[in-house]
Amino acid sequence: MTDSDVAQTGAFIRDDEIAQALADGAQAEPARVRDILAKARELKGVSLEEAAALSTISDPELCRELFESARVVKERIYGSRIVLFAPLYISNLCNNECLYCAFRASNRELERRALSRAEIIREVEALVDQGHKRVLMVAGERYPGEGIDYVLDSIDAIYSVKRGGGEIRRVNVNVAPLSVEQFRELKAARIGTFQLFQETYDRKVYAEVHRGGPKRNYDFRVTAMDRAMAAGIDDVGIGALFGLADWRFELLAMMQHIHHLEARFGVGPHTISMPRIEPACGSQMASSPPNAVGDDDFRKIVAILRLAVPYTGLILSTRESAELRRELIELGVSQISAMSRVNPGGYTEREDEQAAQFHIGDHRSMEEIVVDLMAMGHIPSFCTGCYRMGRTGQDFMDLARPGDIQRHCDPNGLSTFLEYLVDYASPQTRARGEQLIAEKIAAMDPLRRSISQALINRVNAGERDAYV
Ligand code: SAM
Ligand code: SF4
Repeated sequence: MTDSDVAQTGAFIRDDEIAQALADGAQAEPARVRDILAKARELKGVSLEEAAALSTISDPELCRELFESARVVKERIYGSRIVLFAPLYISNLCNNECLYCAFRASNRELERRALSRAEIIREVEALVDQGHKRVLMVAGERYPGEGIDYVLDSIDAIYSVKRGGGEIRRVNVNVAPLSVEQFRELKAARIGTFQLFQETYDRKVYAEVHRGGPKRNYDFRVTAMDRAMAAGIDDVGIGALFGLADWRFELLAMMQHIHHLEARFGVGPHTISMPRIEPACGSQMASSPPNAVGDDDFRKIVAILRLAVPYTGLILSTRESAELRRELIELGVSQISAMSRVNPGGYTEREDEQAAQFHIGDHRSMEEIVVDLMAMGHIPSFCTGCYRMGRTGQDFMDLARPGDIQRHCDPNGLSTFLEYLVDYASPQTRARGEQLIAEKIAAMDPLRRSISQALINRVNAGERDAYV
């Protein structure tokens, strides 16, 4: 498939359909809302119209039932696992003019740099030494050298780091949209998920906030996942930057994007991100977003997405505070970043607000986050098994749908958590973690128990990267 064989425009984002769904949804009676929630609790997802109805509820009792339904779905599919990753900012050079972002080309307040291969390796060593196994590599849209060579070389640098049993086993990438040919190169570099946020699906707002550079092209961005999937990248991650346009519109447009990918490729995105705009150096808009989303509405966004696409990972970054992250994990978030730095060089040098993309809300160390998750009864998972076993895209969804994925995810979550405890945690954290692992295994059905125990035994015997 070439560029010309895939969608060229974002015609699949239908403003009229969204407006109609919202108008109809606002009329939904409580009984209708309860029917939708009952269907969603059976893991059947919800339609665009049903999501619109859920997005317009304001009655406190119905909101409570919405959150409770999201908790049920989260628990049934993801159990107590929560996947951890760290962002790795390799460069803040950029040609674009996104009004909300500190990296935009005309921002003179920012110190610019693109990390060298040696600097990237040092950063990765620092992450590996904390126990990280997954990174999300992030860059502005201007690369030193030819084409995307800098991006490809940086991925190679990340995978090259080996520290005893420690290494990065999955590199997800968040960089500007590419051509089909370039996406093929990215796939050959063994990326995990290709992640890209549309920022806003509202064309008018999009034009207002993207003032210069290639990113002004809405259609090229919204069709990026078509090109990525056409190039053979199975796992893609979509998202919207909440605060730019009306959140209900963004939510429904994301669903249209998902339906389009499902219709075209038989499978939707692997993950969804829902960043909210945070203050950023040199950006007035970031301090007073035009459509700021409050915490109450943000909880609804997470809960509705959990119900709408039960098998799609929901990612939350350290943009949010520790307290809110705790709540949102219960409501449906399945992956969180930990100990993030959003300036290039932030893990080995200083955390530098003058070079950072935005202000972060959760400054806790990896171990503090692990301890907190354990206190909530969660298993911090460092698993990267699925994509290395080829369980990506359609194969992943086929497995995930009947709940089978838990046969893999639960044991792999426990074994990678044990690796973390043995190799990186303090003695107290290790003792508490081992006790939690024993409790989780005791509560499993016999099949998962025997698979899990076998993996745990292998890790305890010194094997690393043991997964099924
Ligand atoms: N340059 C690429 C792009 O724009 O797609 C990828 C990297 S960009 C640093 C990653 C994401 O950061 C953007 O897609 C945007 O959603 C988010 N972002 C930018 N400014 C932000 C802010 N002030 N607060 C929160 N997130 C922000
Ligand atoms: Fe550049 Fe991305 Fe920031 Fe826009 S959001 S200025 S493209 S780094």
